[in-house]
Amino acid sequence: MPRLSPTARVDLHTHSTHSDGTQTPGDLVREAAATGLDVLGLTDHDAVSGWEEADRAGREHGVVVVPGVEISCSWQGRSVHLLAYLPDPGDEALSAELARTRESRTGRLRRMVRRLESAGYPVTWEEVLAQAGDVRSLGRPHIADVLVRQGSFPDRDAAFADVLHSRSSFHVAHYAPSPTAAIELVRAAGGAPVLAHPFAAARGHTLPETLLEELAAAGLAGIEVEHRDHTPQDRDRAARLARQLDLLPTGSSDYHGSGKPNRLGEHTTSVEVLRALLEQTAGQLLGASP
Ligand code: AMP
Ligand code: FE
Ligand code: FE
Ligand code: ZN
Repeated sequence: MPRLSPTARVDLHTHSTHSDGTQTPGDLVREAAATGLDVLGLTDHDAVSGWEEADRAGREHGVVVVPGVEISCSWQGRSVHLLAYLPDPGDEALSAELARTRESRTGRLRRMVRRLESAGYPVTWEEVLAQAGDVRSLGRPHIADVLVRQGSFPDRDAAFADVLHSRSSFHVAHYAPSPTAAIELVRAAGGAPVLAHPFAAARGHTLPETLLEELAAAGLAGIEVEHRDHTPQDRDRAARLARQLDLLPTGSSDYHGSGKPNRLGEHTTSVEVLRALLEQTAGQLLGASP
């Protein structure tokens, strides 16, 4: 078990250019060091390809890197995000499931672009790919960035409020496992599953307490309590459920670089909770030695 200082600052949920963040894993880790974070969780959507670069940058800049992934799940038509910490990246069942989701993300985004093109938006698939760069996990934010560049919308948020909204006629869903199946895959791969922003109403993520009970029984390790998309009431509710269901309460920024207003380190996780989380995993931390 790593010896982390009890005052270490820990942000366990961030995104890089491997999904819809705007900084490379290396730049993200460098910014974490400059912001005074000691421990950074890299949790790209459905992709673990950023771990290697984050590991190198963590060693260079003295940041402990918690390798993670934010798994897109679907429950009764609702989007559920499951954070997985330190799963074995070589686990075949988990890798296959993530690859299946990433492939489906590509096909679905292509169909969304076609719908937008048909309606007269000056966006093409080639432009979306060029905008996304070497991203491994394509998402709606990559269409948003093209629409913003072309002046159709002022920022990602405005594009999401309109044509990219999940209830918009341009929206196409992608394949995603159920949260129960994803929890089982993460546990089988030696990782610790934590439910991301369970009550983020504005983004359609509000989940019933009965589902949280089911997920706890399926092997969930924790839930995100401190998150920008939670109101103070949501945080109280999440904290109470964490106590009742014996789940670890985390806090994090969900930083996406310039893609969202979230600031790195705006919410953090206690070292005590991090230690308890790490005790449930079989994997190795990356970056600097704690
Ligand atoms: P997708 O995964 O392709 O369905 O797109 C959802 C992703 O878009 C989420 O991971 C969010 O990070 C991002 N997102 C959702 N709403 C917004 C918003 N209003 N502004 C910027 N990014 C957003
Ligand atoms: Fe995102
Ligand atoms: Fe999320
Ligand atoms: Zn996230």
